[in-house]
Amino acid sequence: MSDCVFCRIVRGEIPSKKVYEDEHVFAFHDIHPAAPVHVLVVPKVHVDSMAHLDGEHEAAMGRLMVAAGRIAREQGCTDGFRTIVNTGRVGLQEVYHLHLHILGGPDPLPPMLKR
Ligand code: AMP
Repeated sequence: MSDCVFCRIVRGEIPSKKVYEDEHVFAFHDIHPAAPVHVLVVPKVHVDSMAHLDGEHEAAMGRLMVAAGRIAREQGCTDGFRTIVNTGRVGLQEVYHLHLHILGGPDPLPPMLKR
């Protein structure tokens, strides 16, 4: 059992503002929002980063993407949104549990918004 911060959020050991949960995916508001809509979507299975994915994760990543599109629609991002997956040191990843940022709100989003 991992004690990473997002695993602990998934288990309910750390509070979060949950927006979605199913058997495989958990989503919650980013604690430091960079846009009016800023949701993090995580697989319940722990994977450090996109660089750690292999074939056994294909189904989990498919579920993550499908859930992200649904969550963005439910958050009101009907005209579009941005998704970001920061990976590793160069990618400025802060939390080493793979996660997808959904960013939406201003129309259009700033071109260089990092997350
Ligand atoms: P990154 O790893 O760079 O893709 O970003 C990690 C994101 O997780 C940042 O945007 C943080 O604000 C966010 N974050 C870190 N801890 C929490 C938490 N306990 N609840 C919600 N968001 C968090």
